[in-house]
Amino acid sequence: MSAAELNGRLSKVVIIGLGLIGGSFARGLKQAALCDQVVGCARSISTLEKGLALGVIDAAETDLTKAVQGADLVFLSMPIGATENILSVIAPHLEEHTIVTDAGSVKGCVVEATQRVFGETPLNFIPGHPIAGSEKSGVAAGTADLFLHHKVILTPVENHSPHALSIVRALWEALGAEVVLMGHLAHDKVLAATSHLPHLLAYSLVDTLAKDDENLDIFRYAAGGFRDFTRIAASDPTMWHDIFLANRTATLEMLDGFTEGLSQLREAVETGNSQEMLGVFTRAQAARGHFSTISNQRAYLEPMSESTNQQKTAFILKPGKQVHGKLRVPGDKSISHRSIILGSIAEGETHVEGFLEGEDALATLQAFRDLGVVIEGPHQGRVKIYGVGLNGLTAPPGDLYLGNSGTSMRLLAGLLSAQAFPVTLTGDESLSKRPMGRVANPLREMGVKIDTAEDGSPPLKIKGAQNLSGISYKMPMASAQVKSCLLLAGLYADSTTVIEPAVTRDHTERMLHGFGVSIAQQGDMVTLKGGQTLKACSIDIPADISSAAFFMVAASIAPGSEILLEHVGVNPTRTGIIDILRLMGADISLQNTRDVGGEPVADVLVRSANLKGIDIPERLVPLAIDEFPVLFVAAACADGTTRLTGAEELRVKESDRIQVMADGLVALGIDANATPDGIVIQGKGNKEPQVFTGGSIESHGDHRIAMAFSVASLRSGDEICIENCANVATSFPSFVLQAQKVGIQISVKDI
Ligand code: NAP
Repeated sequence: MSAAELNGRLSKVVIIGLGLIGGSFARGLKQAALCDQVVGCARSISTLEKGLALGVIDAAETDLTKAVQGADLVFLSMPIGATENILSVIAPHLEEHTIVTDAGSVKGCVVEATQRVFGETPLNFIPGHPIAGSEKSGVAAGTADLFLHHKVILTPVENHSPHALSIVRALWEALGAEVVLMGHLAHDKVLAATSHLPHLLAYSLVDTLAKDDENLDIFRYAAGGFRDFTRIAASDPTMWHDIFLANRTATLEMLDGFTEGLSQLREAVETGNSQEMLGVFTRAQAARGHFSTISNQRAYLEPMSESTNQQKTAFILKPGKQVHGKLRVPGDKSISHRSIILGSIAEGETHVEGFLEGEDALATLQAFRDLGVVIEGPHQGRVKIYGVGLNGLTAPPGDLYLGNSGTSMRLLAGLLSAQAFPVTLTGDESLSKRPMGRVANPLREMGVKIDTAEDGSPPLKIKGAQNLSGISYKMPMASAQVKSCLLLAGLYADSTTVIEPAVTRDHTERMLHGFGVSIAQQGDMVTLKGGQTLKACSIDIPADISSAAFFMVAASIAPGSEILLEHVGVNPTRTGIIDILRLMGADISLQNTRDVGGEPVADVLVRSANLKGIDIPERLVPLAIDEFPVLFVAAACADGTTRLTGAEELRVKESDRIQVMADGLVALGIDANATPDGIVIQGKGNKEPQVFTGGSIESHGDHRIAMAFSVASLRSGDEICIENCANVATSFPSFVLQAQKVGIQISVKDI
């Protein structure tokens, strides 16, 4: 029911208890004209007179029995301790159609009071609790917008009247609140933790310090956090007295848990146990973001979506000339994941630099915090992991939520299959649809008891405390995630062999090696013997070659350019972009090639060159799959025709990258034809400096499309406007700044 539908349904509303909450409710009703008459009831005449004088109520009544006669709705907003008395007084005078609701901060005691007074909770009684308020009290403190954008919890009993619920819900929504339904016992538990315990602590701390000899100084220099405590402790004592008594059991339970945690922390401070202290502080620091992520069932960073906000960000590119300089682009995502996983089960402290603070890797990092690993950071790409050893992980407090990250779920499925405790892996809506049978099936062959949903999707429920036996597994599909999952499980089995049908990324094997694990690779086969200890190390995560690709093409197509891309990961399973550009005649050289934590890394020097069109060898397609959007820009600047085949996977990426790129190239004056599995591009060549005409491009929220067309501006005759670019931040947050730094004339516009 909407506010408009409420119109005419409520004639008389009675408010019993005309203080902050009752007064605000009354003001809201009157301001939005939600009923014909608001009648106020309070203990004292002076409150009622004030209510009338302020225009908060239309009429005042001191006699409760008279007040409720003919009422359509009665709102109880006096201290909860008075609920039973007031209900007994008004019960005989309520009419059959009268809806009763309340605002009490504890719900179990209110429901019990209704049962004692009426025999059972009346179907027209809808208990409620607005999660809004302040330390002020009294009718004068109320405002009509007190509930705006706040939650109101309603706890209707079984068999409640749906009509009564819809009226109460519509009233709160008309006041701007968000209504949430919950059982009354669950409500009291949640509120004991989030509101009642913090108030108890504030009262106790402020009172303890007020009794201290130095109390004058303490209060004189009070700042920051202590001010918040004193603010909370200024809440109405009678109300809180009532609340603690009414919610005694749940509050004491929370207090006991807190007391235990506090005494552990005390001991850590006393004994100088840094790891214990950092564990508490880092978990607490991350908790707010983590839990809001879970409760909203969203990804750690917003995924590709077409939200209105994201459609508003556009890139504006002025025609550029050349690019020059040195750059270090963000860290590799696959390696960021693995640094957390292996660092956590290693012996000692692992130091990570260049960690990509993106969606997937953050999901993995939080999961290991939940598994009892102390992890500091990330701060500017730096992470410190206090490894717990192969058998040191501990049971998480609840299900492990992995956001949008399929990599995290598949890799962790392997590692957690071998732990002493059971665990359930969950994710957001999109991850919950992804296939997990590909990891669950071979894990079952290793002896793991693991359940998925019927169609093989998450959640993954792993039984724990199982003995794993090694297997030799021929993967039906080429998947680095499946291979990595089995190798991580294999750390706990005798001997595990994985055979792959085609080359896949080998970051796990390389990093295991970097952590001192010996692993045998022979052709398409990799074998690992379990029980080996991982030794902590330092990992300087290579820059992501997929992000570096934009600048490789930029320097190649813009005459007179030279760029040095530092510390780029050049794992041969990822270097298709370099191979293809070189086949097109690009001038790319790898300098200072070195091994970093088992990964080959180099500084990549790119100078401009006259590119030529080629038929891209299909064997290179999987090795450059993410880099094709920007390779198409290179093809448009090359002499002759470039043909891509065997790349149908590009049609099911964040956008249909074949069609979206073809449309964009055509919009910029290029002859480009999409084919079912690729594209044919007639390059304009090197004679004319201007290849693209300028114009407007729709990126369809695909970050790589947006960045690819930004590079095209270097050879454009006119301005290029690229729409819907906010998602660039999820894979390459510093793209605009780095592009500007080397000479691309890019600016961001909110439209
Ligand atoms: P308040 O400002 O102190 O007002 C309480 C009102 O109740 C006053 O008008 C008082 O009348 C009246 N009252 C007290 N005892 C009464 C009795 N025996 N019979 C009739 N009226 C009586 O309190 P509030 O902050 O509005 O809180 C009201 C309710 O809302 C409480 O149940 C509380 O748990 C709940 N609540 C409060 C907050 C918050 O932040 N304040 C938030 C959510 C829910 P006089 O003025 O004549 O004394």
